[in-house]
Amino acid sequence: MSAERVVVQCDVIIVGAGPAGSAAAAVLAEHGHRVIMIERQRFPRYRVGESLIPYCWFPLNRLGLIERIDAASCTIRKHSVQFVGLDGQQTTPFYFATHTKHDCARTWQVARSEFDQLLVDNATEKDAEVRFGINARGLLREGDTTVGVAGVDESGRPIEFRAPMTIDATGRDSFAINQQGWRIDDPQLRKIALWTYFKGGKRDAGIDEGATTVAYLPEKGWFWYIPLPDDTVSVGIVCEREYLYRELGLDPRAMFEREAKIQPWIHEHLRGAKQIGEFRVTGDYSYRSKYCASDGLVLAGDAFGFLDPVFSSGVFLALYTGVLAGDEVHAALTAGDVSAARFTEYGDKFRNAIEAMRRLVYAFYDTEFSFGTFLKAHPEFRSDLTDCLIGNVDKNLDPLFEAASEFASIPAALPHGGPLTQAVSGAEPR
Ligand SMILES: Cc1cc2nc3c(=O)[nH]c(=O)nc-3n(C[C@H](O)[C@H](O)[C@H](O)COP(=O)(O)OP(=O)(O)OC[C@H]3O[C@@H](n4cnc5c(N)ncnc54)[C@H](O)[C@@H]3O)c2cc1C
Repeated sequence: MSAERVVVQCDVIIVGAGPAGSAAAAVLAEHGHRVIMIERQRFPRYRVGESLIPYCWFPLNRLGLIERIDAASCTIRKHSVQFVGLDGQQTTPFYFATHTKHDCARTWQVARSEFDQLLVDNATEKDAEVRFGINARGLLREGDTTVGVAGVDESGRPIEFRAPMTIDATGRDSFAINQQGWRIDDPQLRKIALWTYFKGGKRDAGIDEGATTVAYLPEKGWFWYIPLPDDTVSVGIVCEREYLYRELGLDPRAMFEREAKIQPWIHEHLRGAKQIGEFRVTGDYSYRSKYCASDGLVLAGDAFGFLDPVFSSGVFLALYTGVLAGDEVHAALTAGDVSAARFTEYGDKFRNAIEAMRRLVYAFYDTEFSFGTFLKAHPEFRSDLTDCLIGNVDKNLDPLFEAASEFASIPAALPHGGPLTQAVSGAEPR
């Protein structure tokens, strides 16, 4: 006998309670909508992605969270990012405050389990309903329009959430992308990441204590070194799969230790530190959805696209698009029009933001390119480059990348990622 099916009605169903989902939930609840956010895990739950960039300040301020994050025990201040050469030599850090006097210049490193909990609590306080332990299994459709989500709870009981608007914020699990076959990989960015945590890793003094360090490995691989609260550091490697697996039969710990010996700065900073928890691996992670929205459905955060983490843009893009999606969905509900076409500007802003970061990521991985050489030749672009690094993606960065293209192969913008409007669906087979 099948379990009894429960049907729940609301204005907006949000799938996934990461930064994108919680930001959208808080904004929509503030606008007065009945919001339900479902999350398949129980919180607090683990997430990688601990280093924020300065422009996270703006969506977090909109959510009313700056003071709370400043005071939270899960965060430490991050004032800069620094790069370390293959020889272990550190370059002058990019201090955000030399570029802007705005409060955003001191950003944060965060323990994501508690940071994400804080974002969920904020949504709940604003009257969004959050249900943990619900796994979304399928989109509910009426014709071409999404009218909600079918899920199951932890006991296997089916539940339908019916709503005029659905927001997919499922992160790299990419619920809607998988359902609709919308995933398109970024072919140049097929990297792999291997990471773990340490207690007692060396920290630099004073203002540099919370700096993110990017330390180079051969063949344009790199280490991240992210100081976290509680004397913990997050340390990871990003590189080509062939580079990491160049020796057969090594387990993740052995590969990590081999690379740590190659990079003198990392070796020195981990001397005497105690490794904790597991070694984690993920790969092939840069992709973008073919569409950002269809009738009744919009994608936010990693559920729309993911970019190599070298410039720590993921949480910023999740918060930025979570807030944006919240406002756009509110406007759609108010107008009584949830068609995909309403999300054209949303798609443009989202793609512009990702493209700014994507061009920077391509430059970083170009074997001919070095930021030092570029800035020596074009010191007038230091400010634009820093703007891109801090997440000021609304700025016109075309001149920066035109100049950078003398030194590196800068990609054209990807053509896909707009909404699936009637015009688009009429023009191609579905
Ligand atoms: C190796 C690596 C390093 C990174 N480093 C950084 C960094 O330093 N800085 C940074 O800003 N970003 C970093 N990122 C990116 C960052 O982790 C993400 O961009 C960010 O977490 C995206 O937030 P989100 O809300 O879109 O998704 P998520 O945080 O992934 O949240 C999605 C939520 O949806 C839930 N969910 C998924 N499927 C379902 C379902 N079917 N039903 C119900 N719930 C579901 C999940 O359980 C999850 O809680 C890194 C990523 C990787 C892979």
